[in-house]
Amino acid sequence: MVELYHSDCRKILMFYTEYRPQKFNELIGADHIISAITGALAKGLPAHAYFFYGSRGIGKTTTARLLAKALNCENPTNSPSFEPCGKCQSCLSIYNGNHLDLIEIDAASNRGIENIRDIKENVVLAPSMGKNKVYIIDEVHMLTTEASNALLKLLEEPPTHAYFILCTTNPEKVIDTIKSRCQQFQFKRPTINELKQKLLKIAKDKRFEITEDQIQKISKSAKGAYREAETLLEQLINGNSNVIGDMFETNSDYKYLGEMILNSDVASAIEHINKVYTDGNNLEVWTEKYISYLRGLLLAKVGVKNLSGEFLDQDDGFMKKASLDLIQKMVKRFTQALFEFKTAIIPTLPLEMALIDLLIENIPDEKPVSSAPLEIPVVSRDFPYKKLIEAVKPHNHSIYLILYSCDVQSFDGKYLTLVAYYSFHKERVMSMKVKDIIQAEAEKLIGSPVVLKCELSDKKLDAKKLTDKNLKSVKEPMDIEEVFEKVFGDDMEES
Ligand SMILES: [Zn+2]
Repeated sequence: MVELYHSDCRKILMFYTEYRPQKFNELIGADHIISAITGALAKGLPAHAYFFYGSRGIGKTTTARLLAKALNCENPTNSPSFEPCGKCQSCLSIYNGNHLDLIEIDAASNRGIENIRDIKENVVLAPSMGKNKVYIIDEVHMLTTEASNALLKLLEEPPTHAYFILCTTNPEKVIDTIKSRCQQFQFKRPTINELKQKLLKIAKDKRFEITEDQIQKISKSAKGAYREAETLLEQLINGNSNVIGDMFETNSDYKYLGEMILNSDVASAIEHINKVYTDGNNLEVWTEKYISYLRGLLLAKVGVKNLSGEFLDQDDGFMKKASLDLIQKMVKRFTQALFEFKTAIIPTLPLEMALIDLLIENIPDEKPVSSAPLEIPVVSRDFPYKKLIEAVKPHNHSIYLILYSCDVQSFDGKYLTLVAYYSFHKERVMSMKVKDIIQAEAEKLIGSPVVLKCELSDKKLDAKKLTDKNLKSVKEPMDIEEVFEKVFGDDMEES
């Protein structure tokens, strides 16, 4: 919807429409595109087909309508560069959205071959009121294959009075043969400064005193889209100062959850998610935003300072305290949750499961290991287990072999928990002397004290699998009988 009506039927325009640039020189941050287009217009040689691509709300259709205006203007100026007059009947009709020769098609809802056939029948007719017929096809990637091929035919031999402007957020989904018939322009997200410029201009025009802080917050929150920024500013000017508060609210919401995750407080984290839900939030949307927030932290954490149009908070408290590994796991696990919403019986369940997965992993593990699925041995990537085995070897050859038949269950920087599949292995590993050797060697590897724990799995790996695994892991060739005897024999000596 581009227009709103008050109860008194006085037509008002939304900011995004009201402040839609009406001249090429009002477009911010698209200089290379504008100079190419106006240059061709000035020479009287505009292309018959254009392909505009880039993300939402950054000026593709605005530029397309300006181009349509320029192609039909009765008194265009050419100094210093080509501009439509903005005053002739044609310009005014386009501004008011009722020009008969500007045909806008939303391909998302008009995807089929019959829609392109309609254009084909219509395009040959002479323009009704202007010089040229202009077709803007938005979200052109949504057309069916049949429709795309029909469109291609149209682009190959357009009548001289017909111009096509194809817009899309997904250029890779448009067939190459269509793209190659068009002059292609990529629209970039505006930078924070470009957004600020635009907001200041509107605020000044509306005689609204906006603080630097408000401008800054709206620019950051708009995530590189003019449309989003202008909608937020409009709400603010219309007296909804909560719009700024809401931005804070969402953020403090995340920060609160972050604290609970850092404290491994799974119960409070789940209660919080349920509160978010009962407060009336759509959890799917909430999760999308949360993932986007986490992504920002992840990028900031690895040192990315500047993304065009995006703000990366370098001072986020959660980012500073959480490990890169944890944030990465959170992004992965919450993304998985996003796919689970569709089939969830209880709306909060996907997030609850995600939190349990994430937090139980972080708690030093006290639960009996028998409940964990251990069919496929889990080896912690963080702990150099093979190096430990090699380091233990000079002390005690049989322990070295027993360690090969165990797995690392977890390592949290201090507690190293192994899983043994046989009780006598566990007893051996945890006997005081052996335990001391393992802990001492582990400390040398990690550089800080390590406390060894060993859990017994109730799942027995079958002997074949275990032997294969052992032999694969051992560098030097070894006699299979010897391995069996040493690992499973009862006659092991104390070192
Ligand atoms: Zn005009």
